[in-house]
Amino acid sequence: MIVILEPQLDGDSSQTAAVLQHLRSVAGITPKIHQVTGEQQVLTEIYLVGNTAGLDRAEIEALPGVNRVVKVSRAYAVLGRHTGDSRSYGFTYNGVTFNQDNFNLFAGLCAVDTRAHVEQMMKAVADMGLNCTRMGAYKPRTNPYSFQGHGAECLPWVFELAGKYGIKVIAMEITHDTHIAQINAALKDSGNPTGVMLQIGTRNTQNFELLKACGRQNDHPVLLKRGFGITLEESLNAAEYLASEGNRKVIFCLRGMKTNMGDPHRNFVDFSHVPVIKRMTHMPVCIDPSHSVGTRARAPDGLLDVFHATAQGIIAGANMVLIDFHPNPASALVDGPQALTMDELVHYVEDIDIARQAYLARKKRAAE
Ligand code: PEP
Ligand code: MN
Repeated sequence: MIVILEPQLDGDSSQTAAVLQHLRSVAGITPKIHQVTGEQQVLTEIYLVGNTAGLDRAEIEALPGVNRVVKVSRAYAVLGRHTGDSRSYGFTYNGVTFNQDNFNLFAGLCAVDTRAHVEQMMKAVADMGLNCTRMGAYKPRTNPYSFQGHGAECLPWVFELAGKYGIKVIAMEITHDTHIAQINAALKDSGNPTGVMLQIGTRNTQNFELLKACGRQNDHPVLLKRGFGITLEESLNAAEYLASEGNRKVIFCLRGMKTNMGDPHRNFVDFSHVPVIKRMTHMPVCIDPSHSVGTRARAPDGLLDVFHATAQGIIAGANMVLIDFHPNPASALVDGPQALTMDELVHYVEDIDIARQAYLARKKRAAE
């Protein structure tokens, strides 16, 4: 159950305290208070954890300061869609808005390697009028002897270059909770020239301590990759971990499932789940066609499989694309074989636009 307070009430008001006191007196219930920053106002919501079966909804709704009460399923209490749930979702971070209706492209390097490559990438993004990118500093690698990413050492110059090219949000994977403090320190030291969306990779989807750490901070939104070998329900519960700790700025990313049934692609493309995530939750949905397809194979129609997979996700309503580019894929230290080249960026953006327009036309037709 979610108790939504009147918009003008904040967490410290006496009315809020009285509502909390009332809820705490109910045996077996733990109220958890959340501040939700929307575009227009800050809302205070109280999540009731525990056995809510015996609660009298009308009685709670009658308490002074309570706007309404939403009954939620146990599974995805915060992020899920519930009957009669008109809470508005989506968020704006460092000037960029993310919700289930709009679209943002994050083209960038799988892994930060040289300053020159980072600069070339960011310049190409900026030249297209885009303001988001991906930059991996901490890389989870299968082989312990493979390049592990430059880590904290590269953050100062990556952030400085982001500022130079007007990049507002960098999706950056973290593999340990200490990386959050490293990112915050580097952002502060460089004068906050950009924003960072914390990315939790598919190998860490169920790293619950990492999820809790990302959920406890509210500075950065979180991009959660679907676990490549677990059920959708398990991955959605992982997302709920973030929200249950207080951070509702969560984007869910499909990146293909690990099975040889997807051969010859690196992973089995699962973008038909875009509408499923949207129906079950309020999260914006991202697709990662690079890690799904994993190669630069081209179909007889002249389009790379990566282009096709991207279009499939977008025409199904994806809100974000995370995609690997590299100025010289042959020299890339991570995932070169799947990277698009700089001269493919214009075509890629045009192809996305075709698919996005088709999606919007389909949506319009469905509303008629
Ligand atoms: C990545 O985006 O670089 C990455 C490692 O992705 P995934 O966690 O989906 O494998
Ligand atoms: Mn990669």
